[in-house]
Amino acid sequence: MELVVEDGVFVTMAAEVTPADAMLIRDDRIAAIGPAGAVRAAASGAEVVRLGGATVIPGLIDAHCHVADVGYLAAAADCSQPSAPDIAAVQARIRAAADRTPEGSWVTGSGYAEYKLREGKHPTRADLDQAVPGRPAVLYHTSLHVCVLNTPALREAGFRDGQPDPPGGAFGRDSQGRLDGVVYEAPMFALFEQNLRRDITRMGAGTRGGLIQAAGQRLAALGLTAACDADMRRDTFGAFAEADAGGLLSQRIYGLVVHDQVDWLLAAGLRGRHSSRLATEAVKIWSDGGMSSRTAAIHGTYPVPPYGSGILYFERDELTRMVRDFDARGFQVCIHAQGDRAIETVLDAYATILTPGAGNPRRHRIEHGGAMYPPLAARAAALGIVVATQPGFLSALGDGFAAAFPDRSDQLYSLASWQRAGITVAGSSDAPVITADPLIGIRDAVLRRTEDGRLLGPAERLPARDALALYTTQAAFACHRESEIGSLEPGKLADFVVLDKNPLEAEPEQIPGIQVLATVLGGTPVFQSGSLFAGR
Ligand SMILES: [Zn+2]
Repeated sequence: MELVVEDGVFVTMAAEVTPADAMLIRDDRIAAIGPAGAVRAAASGAEVVRLGGATVIPGLIDAHCHVADVGYLAAAADCSQPSAPDIAAVQARIRAAADRTPEGSWVTGSGYAEYKLREGKHPTRADLDQAVPGRPAVLYHTSLHVCVLNTPALREAGFRDGQPDPPGGAFGRDSQGRLDGVVYEAPMFALFEQNLRRDITRMGAGTRGGLIQAAGQRLAALGLTAACDADMRRDTFGAFAEADAGGLLSQRIYGLVVHDQVDWLLAAGLRGRHSSRLATEAVKIWSDGGMSSRTAAIHGTYPVPPYGSGILYFERDELTRMVRDFDARGFQVCIHAQGDRAIETVLDAYATILTPGAGNPRRHRIEHGGAMYPPLAARAAALGIVVATQPGFLSALGDGFAAAFPDRSDQLYSLASWQRAGITVAGSSDAPVITADPLIGIRDAVLRRTEDGRLLGPAERLPARDALALYTTQAAFACHRESEIGSLEPGKLADFVVLDKNPLEAEPEQIPGIQVLATVLGGTPVFQSGSLFAGR
């Protein structure tokens, strides 16, 4: 197969900037890129697609999202804003979802944020009981660190009034001390996992790959050609493997396998690359809670509910033991750490296997890094830690951050400082926590404006090219793929996106409005909004 793509503006993101208006694709790789004359000369008789001046960028990479969860929650009631501005709207959406939820599955809603609801508080079990009285219903917070259960769900989960908070988590309670249905952290993760597993099992072989396919189509429409799944487990791996075998993956998936699943992974002989589209080479550990749920482990206390200092999942010694063990077994380790107290603990653990200035060959990562203030960033840089972060949180969740971190909100997600310190920063969405749209992440890295128009850390804004690098070259590095993807260069895989405007020249406010005309994976279109690659 030979294809010439020409009459385009090529933003190659290669280290060496050479002018290009055409690219030759041979099978699944880029054979040549440069001036049209030279490219055409290298291809005799190749098919030609003319782009009419459209812009071509490398396929975008989401270095941390939850692909299986995107597919799973795509079927849930959308309770995000502006779809559900108040609790009555949440109730209406959950009620409607009950009609299409199979018997035996929990009625599910997702995407709410209490500080965005008109009432400014979490819905309660009573609110959900009104909407769905007779069967279990669950409403997941946008952070996926909190959920609300109705009474049948509380009963089925085995949560009773008067029981103490479980390890690593907490229950919301009313003025009489009864459970109000809100569940924080560890028990919430267990529930989500249990529900996802039950529903995937119910789908059975043959259809669970469809859940991954649905997620992949959504991501492809956003220009994504690769994604790290930050929560790969035995069940979800089965769904990915099924999608891969059926040719249904629209992205190259780099799996971060949850730490307690690693023994299974190794015993099953499933570590490594399974195909050009599916790999399991890294381990995921959570060290603390989330920023928007105010459960990230910080020094000091939050001035807003649920107050406290956040939740740390592992003490330093235990985390260190895990890091040493996975490093010794050759895994890249990726640790969720948001609060400064958690990041400190993670850096302490990494410091036992890495020497400052001596590099980080496995590219051990910190996921998120929200409150990685300057002294912590300097330590991370010296150890060579890679950070996979989420600029898109700034618009979607930034007003909540400002309330939770009134004195230091300008130092959260301090992208420019991190880059200056020498940290490789990879862009990602953490979807379905927020939208997976990388153009929103790019805009937010450039503008740092919250939904309410607040400017969070003006000194931390990035130029557009650096923002695009987060989702291309740097994200490729974060998953050991920089020799194959992340830039448009001869020999690399032909993963690219055709856009109707050049994001490096658009007004930053306009970047999310740029149209994805086509997303191409290994020379094959996996999404198109027009007919550029008609018949391919
Ligand atoms: Zn995540």
